[in-house]
Amino acid sequence: MIKKKVVVLGSTGSVGINTLRVIESLGDRFQVIGLTARKNINLLEKQTRKFHPKIVALADKKSARELRGRFKSMMIMSGQEGVIEVARLKEADLVVSAIVGASGLIPTLEAIKARKGIALANKETLVIAGEIIMAEAHKRGVEILPVDSEHSAIFQCLKREEKKKVSHIILTASGGPFLKFSFSRLKSVTPKEALKHPTWEMGKKVTIDSATLMNKGLEVIEAHYLFGIDIDRIAVVIHPQAIVHSLVEFVDGSILAHLGTPDMRLPIQYALTYPERLPTSLKRLDLTKIKELTFQKPDTKKFPCLKLAYEAARIGGTAPAVLSASNEIAVSLFLKKKIGFMEIPQMIKKVLNKHKPIKSPTLNEILKADVWAREEALRC
Ligand code: MG
Repeated sequence: MIKKKVVVLGSTGSVGINTLRVIESLGDRFQVIGLTARKNINLLEKQTRKFHPKIVALADKKSARELRGRFKSMMIMSGQEGVIEVARLKEADLVVSAIVGASGLIPTLEAIKARKGIALANKETLVIAGEIIMAEAHKRGVEILPVDSEHSAIFQCLKREEKKKVSHIILTASGGPFLKFSFSRLKSVTPKEALKHPTWEMGKKVTIDSATLMNKGLEVIEAHYLFGIDIDRIAVVIHPQAIVHSLVEFVDGSILAHLGTPDMRLPIQYALTYPERLPTSLKRLDLTKIKELTFQKPDTKKFPCLKLAYEAARIGGTAPAVLSASNEIAVSLFLKKKIGFMEIPQMIKKVLNKHKPIKSPTLNEILKADVWAREEALRC
């Protein structure tokens, strides 16, 4: 069997770690040939000793120097150039884009330009530069396979269906840990409380985004670009059990849904093996044990981030990049206890209001808007 050669960008994050677990569970179908991380050298060292990639890169240059001391004869690159070099690796068939935040954009774009298959977990890539990314992928004949559970669900429901026959896309959201909290209680929630997600185990940034519903907002924008569906034909429903991963409603009123246990290894494996579907040893869904599946409308008064994301998406151009960048800053300030939970949407709103959006921006204009939004958020 010819092994699929895989590069994992962001291998020490939660999606990266789970990608490597899936690859390990699939035996010798895959060969990991490149890994990148920001600065978690201990885990990257462990992964390197286990998977023997040809090349690794650390975005943080100091960490790269330290890792070089531990591997005498290994290619260890550093900085964004280093990460890009791994993303463009000649032999690679598939690049798993699992870097968190806006730093995932350029390496993913470079991998597309190098005609690599893309398993996309980094939602910011499409949120920030959806038009550019999709145009580039189209031009190079690159298929972008979603890793995010909701988008993987939609991708599977859309198979063999014409886009013009789609009436709506319905994204489900677990609602996060604060679904039942009152508005006034939300003001005093701590990072520790916010980091306790009821159903999914994820990294810190995504977990806070889930608590504010910004994660769903970013996913709406991601779905808009990935599937080419108008923003107002993408709906969100709260579904706390997280069993239905998303749904597609067609013009005749039929709805197709994707169900499964909430385990990110499932969508990761599908993206890795696509178009094949392989068995897993993951826990099965026992329908008779599910007592109820509930759905409700999201409360955008308590969770204004979702509304802000729709607004930014409707404006388009550089607005989604500004939304995402100011959110990254607000989340990091919340985690450092510098701002309260309800100040996250306030900060994003202020920055968005000040922004003068550019229509059909170039990559440079997007990156400038991103830097501006971060500085503006810190000035709030
Ligand atoms: Mg998701």
